[in-house]
Order: sequence, then structure tokens, then C-alpha cells
Amino acid sequence: MTKIDIAALDAEDPLACFRERFYLPEGLIYLDGNSLGPAPKAAFTGFGEVVEKEWAEGLIGSWNTAGWFAAPKTLGDRLGAFLGAAPGQTVVCDTTSINIFKAVHAALGLRPGRRVVVSELDSFPTDLYMLGGTGAEVRLLGRDGDRLEDLIDGNVAAVLLSQVNYRSGALFDMTAINRLAHDAGALIIWDLCHSAGVVPIALDAAGTDFAVGCTYKYLNAGPGAPAFIYVAKRHLEEARQPLSGWWGHARPFAFEAEYEAHPGIEKFLCGTQPIISLRGVQAGLDALDGVSQSALREKSLSLTHLFMDLCEPLCRDYGLVPGTPREDRQRGSQVSFTFEHGYAVIRAMIERGVVGDFREPGLMRFGFAPLYLSHADIKRAVEIMESCLADRVWLDPAYQVRSPVT
Ligand SMILES: *Cc1c(COP(=O)(O)O)cnc(C)c1O
Repeated sequence: MTKIDIAALDAEDPLACFRERFYLPEGLIYLDGNSLGPAPKAAFTGFGEVVEKEWAEGLIGSWNTAGWFAAPKTLGDRLGAFLGAAPGQTVVCDTTSINIFKAVHAALGLRPGRRVVVSELDSFPTDLYMLGGTGAEVRLLGRDGDRLEDLIDGNVAAVLLSQVNYRSGALFDMTAINRLAHDAGALIIWDLCHSAGVVPIALDAAGTDFAVGCTYKYLNAGPGAPAFIYVAKRHLEEARQPLSGWWGHARPFAFEAEYEAHPGIEKFLCGTQPIISLRGVQAGLDALDGVSQSALREKSLSLTHLFMDLCEPLCRDYGLVPGTPREDRQRGSQVSFTFEHGYAVIRAMIERGVVGDFREPGLMRFGFAPLYLSHADIKRAVEIMESCLADRVWLDPAYQVRSPVT
């Protein structure tokens, strides 16, 4: 790949104009949008407005006049539209961990007599930790069997999977797996943490039952911004979730002693939501406004493809082991390599202006967000990775000490 080719790819990039919507520190190449997306410029004005006007001036009245109370639902509908969900099925609230707990409980309740939930051994650990807290009997792909179809039988209430694996970046076929689960009478719960914002998603059309995900990765809503939960309309009447707080009540402001679940998606709310952080979700959605899903996917694949191609000589020369599917339809928007000195290399790359991250054991992970990265950034990132490898940075004791957050 010559310099000319890369310049041509960037010149023809229909998403190049989106870069302006984000603030990124000068000279930095940010390949960690799969962990924490950068700040959309709309967040600066949004946070200013919510604090200085709505809170400072409007005080308690802003619950009504600034749309605070309705925000989980209005933002949920807006995010839902981006994920292929008709209105009334998505709310922005709580954390992904908490929403997994609610979704699994609801699914178990919808399938009485079935106690098994199938998931994947290589899931993001919190998914399995939360699943463990539901009392479900857990069957894991990668521990109890190697094929999903062998694990899903008449005892399975639900299948809980991440659409894109947080380590390898491998992508599941949502429609095919939904069919597999439904054919066995089971429900499906998708964790979209690593796909929402970079992989085109059509929740309604795919027949998905439940979906959860966070907004601070590729949706760029800010650190600790609330997550989302989607529940298909056909389940809303019957579904119950165990965190029966007042925001999920049919009439929260009637202050009745008895709990009565809201008939709509609001029943998946629990308590008061972080209004200031919700403004970050709004800013993240503003930054996505008008993006074409197919352009997003096409550029994502083009960036990951280029990165893997350019890294091939490094794998050969230094023994990095590729961990991400080469086949486009099996890949999300991240690429990883296993390397025994991966931690030191990632740390050194950060000091040289390329931010990726590290996951145990020995995994160097790079996320590719099509809205603010160019093909030239990818080429530069690989050059810097190569310089770190050539310098054998792992011999430097400064790069051996682990930070608390990797
Ligand atoms: C990032 C991530 C989470 C994070 O959960 P929180 O409750 O928001 O901390 C959960 N699951 C997956 C798959 C993730 O990638």
C-alpha cells in the first residue's frame, strides 16, 4: 500500500467531515474508542447548558421544563432508531451490568420451567458475573461445548452473547443466532457494547428479544454515561424485571404503597437517572446525526483491513500473533494481537502518540472508530508500533509497572 493509495482512500472518504465533530488532542491517534470514545464538541455546550442553565437557573423545575424526567425515554427512542428499533422499546439508564441483570431475569420469567442461560466463556467478565447473580444455570460456549447449536436445547430460557467479542473483535451473525435460539424456544439477549456505533444493527428486523450496551465506547457519550436496554414490544406487557424502583412504576408521582409496573419500556427503569451524564448521550447521538450505516461499516472494514495488512510484516518479524478474523463478515471494528511484551509496547506507543489498550493475557487491542480516524492515521500508528518493536521497549523497566486501569 503506497502513500498515494492511502491519500486516495482518505480523499474519497464520505465520513471525513465527521472528524470535526470531535475534540481530539493535537497529534494524537486514538485507537481506544472501544474503551472510551473521545468528547464530541456538542458535549461542551450540552454540559454547559445542563449545569449553568437547567440546574443553576431552572432548579427543580427543570425536571419538567428541560425534559429531564423524560430523558431516558426520549434518548432511548433516538438511540433505538440508530439501532433499528421502533420507538417505545429502548431506554437509556443504569449500567450495562445492571441492564444485563434485568434482561436475564425478564427472559427467565418469560420462559417458566427453563432455568438454563447459554453464554460464552470468553464474554466480557461482568456479563458472566451478573449472569451468575441471577440464579440461572449457566452453560458456556468454549467450556461446555464448542458449538452454540449443541448447547441450546429445550431447557434453555435465553442466550446471552456479545455481538462483537471484546478481545478478538470477532462478530456474531445476529439474525442467524436469533433464529437458532428461537428455533429451540429460547430468547436472545445481545450485548452491543462493542458493536453499537460501528456495526449496522437492525434489532427489530433481526427479531432480537433483548439488547443492552454501553454508550461511552463507540457512542462517545462520556465516562460512566448511562447504558441502554432494548426490549422487543411483543414482550413488554408480560416482561418483569426485579429492580422494581419507582421510576419503573406505572404512576411514579402517585406515590402509591404498592408497586405496579409501567406497561411500557419504562418498567425497565429503576431510580433517578444521572441527568448530567445523560447530556453526554445526547452529544454522542448528535455527533452521529446523519451518518449512513453502510458508509460506517464500509470505512470500519477498510480501516481494520488496512491495519491488519500493514501489521503483517510485524507479525512475521517480531512474533505478534493475530487474534482477529481476516474475513470481513466475521469482524467488528477492532483488531488485536497477542504478544508477550504487549503491555510494554502499548505503554510505549501511548507515549509516542498512539493510544491502544491492553487486556490480559498479553493482548494488544486497537479499536477503529470510522468517524474520527483516517487511513493516514492507521499508517502512522503502524509506523509507531514498528518503532516500539524495533526499539525493544520491553527492556525498559519504566514500561513494566502496571497502571491500575489498563
Ligand atoms: C464495556 C463492557 C461492559 C461494561 O459494563 P458496565 O456495567 O458499563 O461497566 C459490559 N459488557 C461488555 C461486553 C463490555 O464491553
